Amino acid sequence: IMSKNKSSESVKVVVRCRPLNRKEESSGPVGGIVQMDLRLGQVILRNPRASPSEPQKTFTFDAVYDANSKQRDLYDESVRPLIDSVLAGFNGTIFAYGQTGTGKTYTMQGAWLDPEKRGVIPNAFDHIFTHISRSQSDKQYLVRASYLEIYREEIRDLLDPNHSTAKGLDLRENPETGVYVPDLTSCVCKSIKEIEEVMNVGNQARAVGATDMNEHSSRSHALFLITVECSQPGPDGRKHIRVGRLNLVDLAGSERQAKTGVHGERLKEAAKINLSLSALGNVISALADGRSGHVPYRDSKLTRLLQDSLGGNAKTVMVATLGPAPAHYDETLTTLRYANRAKNIQNQPKVNEDPKDALLREFQKEIARLKAQLNHRRWRSKQKKEQVDGEDWGRDSDEEMEDEEEVVETETEEYLKLEEQRLEREEEAITEDQFLLAEEKQKLLGDLRKEQEAAEQLTAKYKAMESKLLVGGKNIIDHTNEQQKMLEVKRQEIAEQTRKEREIQQQMLVQDEETLELRETFTSLQQEVEAKTKKLKKLYSKLQCIKAEIKDMNDEHVGSRQELEQTQNELTRELKFKYLIIENFIPPEEKNKIMNRLTFDPEEDQWNFQPLVPAQSKFSQMKKRPASAVGYKRPISQFARVAIAMGAHSRYRAENIMFLELDMCPPNPSPLDCSVEADPNQTPSLENSPTRNRDIHKSSSCPPRGDRTSFRSVSILPRVCRTGFTSVELRLHERGEDLLGAKRRGFRSAD
Ligand code: ADP
Ligand code: MG
Repeated sequence: IMSKNKSSESVKVVVRCRPLNRKEESSGPVGGIVQMDLRLGQVILRNPRASPSEPQKTFTFDAVYDANSKQRDLYDESVRPLIDSVLAGFNGTIFAYGQTGTGKTYTMQGAWLDPEKRGVIPNAFDHIFTHISRSQSDKQYLVRASYLEIYREEIRDLLDPNHSTAKGLDLRENPETGVYVPDLTSCVCKSIKEIEEVMNVGNQARAVGATDMNEHSSRSHALFLITVECSQPGPDGRKHIRVGRLNLVDLAGSERQAKTGVHGERLKEAAKINLSLSALGNVISALADGRSGHVPYRDSKLTRLLQDSLGGNAKTVMVATLGPAPAHYDETLTTLRYANRAKNIQNQPKVNEDPKDALLREFQKEIARLKAQLNHRRWRSKQKKEQVDGEDWGRDSDEEMEDEEEVVETETEEYLKLEEQRLEREEEAITEDQFLLAEEKQKLLGDLRKEQEAAEQLTAKYKAMESKLLVGGKNIIDHTNEQQKMLEVKRQEIAEQTRKEREIQQQMLVQDEETLELRETFTSLQQEVEAKTKKLKKLYSKLQCIKAEIKDMNDEHVGSRQELEQTQNELTRELKFKYLIIENFIPPEEKNKIMNRLTFDPEEDQWNFQPLVPAQSKFSQMKKRPASAVGYKRPISQFARVAIAMGAHSRYRAENIMFLELDMCPPNPSPLDCSVEADPNQTPSLENSPTRNRDIHKSSSCPPRGDRTSFRSVSILPRVCRTGFTSVELRLHERGEDLLGAKRRGFRSAD
C-alpha cells in the first residue's frame, strides 16, 4: 500500500510461532500446522480438517520467527530500530497479541535470569541505558517508568503500594500530549538495576492481586511505560528537549471467552473482560479499512491509551504469537487475519520536541535555582567575612559566578569545606570571647549552626536532583570492551541487512506476478500455449484461494452475527425484566423524579445522578444540624432519650418474656410425660381453662406478634433484659408460681 503521507509509515507486524510443547507433542503424530518461510517473511497455515487438495493459506509479514528463533534475533531485527527511534524522541509501542499460552509474556519478558531467553523488555532496558552511557557528554537524560494494568475496564497502578484497595484510575486527554493517566506513579530510574526493580515490584503487585495468576494474566492487559527525556544544546546554543515514550504492552489472551449460560450481571462482566480486546479489533479494522471516518477509540480504555500508537504519531510494532497445535487452528487463523489487517494501519510518527510538560526542564530549572541559591550564599558569606575582618580568602577572591555545571559541582564542595572552616573558626572565636555573656554566646552559636544546616540541606537537595539526571557517557559504567561493542554493531548491521533483503524479496515477488507477461516472448505457438496454461493454472489456484477466503469471511461474519444476536436477545430479556419491575413496583412520579435527575456521561459511558442539592447553593440550602442531634444519627426527642437511658419498662419486659416462651415453644402433644419441664405447673391451669389451651397452640403455630416484640427487647438490650429477668423471677415468686420454671425460661430466651 502506498503511503498517503510522506512522513507516514505502516505498523510493523511480525509473527512468532512457539515450539510444540510436551503435551501437544505427545497428543498426536500430526505435528504443527504452521510453516514459515523466514526469507520471504511468510506464514503458511495448514487446515488439519481440510482435504490435502485444498490450498493452504499464506500470509506475508514484515518478519516471521519460527520455533527455533532466538529472543535476540527478534530484538535486533524488529525491536531495536523502534527503541532507537524512542531514544531520538519518537513515541513507540510494541504489543504482543495472541491466544493464551502462545508466548506473549515469553516474548515481552522471557526468562529474566537466562541471558539467552531475556525478552523484549529486559533487552530494551539494556539498550536504553547502554545508549545513554555511550552518548556524548553534552546530553542529559531523564528516564522514568510506570506500570499499569487494565482489568475489567479498570486501570490499576501497579507501582502504587495500595493499588489493590485504590479506585481505578481515570483517563484524560491533553491536546498536546494525547491521552494520559493522571496520578499514575512514575519512578525515575538511573540504571538498569533500578528499572528492573520497578518491573519486579509491578509484576509482584500483579501476582498478589490475583487469586489465579494464570487466569488473571490471560484476562488483563499489562502496560509498561518508559519515558526517555533527552536534553542537548542545539545550534542556537539553547538546550532542546526531546521526549520519547515507549509502551510495552502484553495484551490479554485473544481467545474467545466462552459465555455459555451467562446472563444478567455475569453477562456484563464477561462482556467487560474482553471489551478492550474487541474494541482493539474494531479500531484496527476501521483503520485498516481506511474508508470509515470514525475510529472507535473511545470504546475502551485500552484503545484510548493506544490511540497514538494506532493511526497516531507513534511508531508501532505488533508481535502476533501463534501456537503450532492443530487443535488451535481457528484461533491461529483469527490471529493471522488480525495481524494481516494491522499491517495496513498508517501512522504519522513525529519527534516530540520541547514539549511543555517535560520533567527534565523542570529538573534543570530547579537545579539552576538551587545552584543560584548556593552561589548567593557563598557570595554573601564572603562579603560578610571581608567586612568583618578583611581576611583574604585566597582562591575565593578570583572566582567568578560561573554557570558550568562541573565547575559548580567541585566549587560546591569547596564552598562547603570553606564554610565549615569558617563556622568552626567563628565558633572558637565566640567561645573564647570573654566579654560576651553566656546567653549571647549560646544564641550566636545556635545561629551559626542553623546557617550551616541550611547550607547542607541546600546542597543535599541539589545533589539529589542532579543525581537523577543521567549525563551521556558518564553516569553508567560501560563494562563492555571495544571488541564486544564492535560485535554488537556488526550484529545490528546483519539484522539490518536481513531486513532489507527480505523487503527486496517481497517486492520482487509482487513484481514478478505483475510483469511476467510483459517480459515473455513466444517463439512458437506450442510454447505460448504452455506458458498460458501455466499462468492459467496459477491464476486459477489464486482464484480458489480467494474464494475460500471469501467463504471463510462469510462464515465468520455469520458466526459473529449469531453471537451478537444472542447477546442482544439476552440483553432484551434482561431489559424486559427490569421494565417489569419498574412499571409495577415503582410509582410513576418517583420514576419521573429519578429520570429527571439522570445525565449521561459519554466520557465514562455511564448514567450519573445529578446531585439533589445544586453544588453552588449547597450551604445556603442545607439547614443547620439541630442541637438535639449531637452524637445521634438523627434528631431525637427528649422523651426518647430518657427512654433509651432507662431501658424498656420492666413491666412490659416481663410480659415479653412470658410471651416469648410461650410462642417459641414447639407444640408439645404430651406434656405430662416430661416431669423435669415446667409443665406440671401449667397442667392445672390448662385443665381449668380449655380456652387457654387453644390459645397456646394457636400462638405457637403462628408466632408473629408476641415473637416480634420479645425479639426486639432481647436483641437490642440483652444486658438490660437479663437484669429484667430477676425482677420477673421475684414477681413470679411473690405470686407463688414455680421459680425454677420461670428461671429456665428466662435464660433460654436470653440465648
Ligand atoms: P502467553 O503469555 O501468551 O499466555 P506464555 O508466554 O506464558 O504465553 O507462554 C506459554 C509457555 O510457552 C511458557 O511456558 C513459555 O516458556 C513457552 N514458550 C512460549 N514461547 C516460546 C518460545 N518461543 N520458545 C520456547 N518456549 C516458549
Ligand atoms: Mg501471558
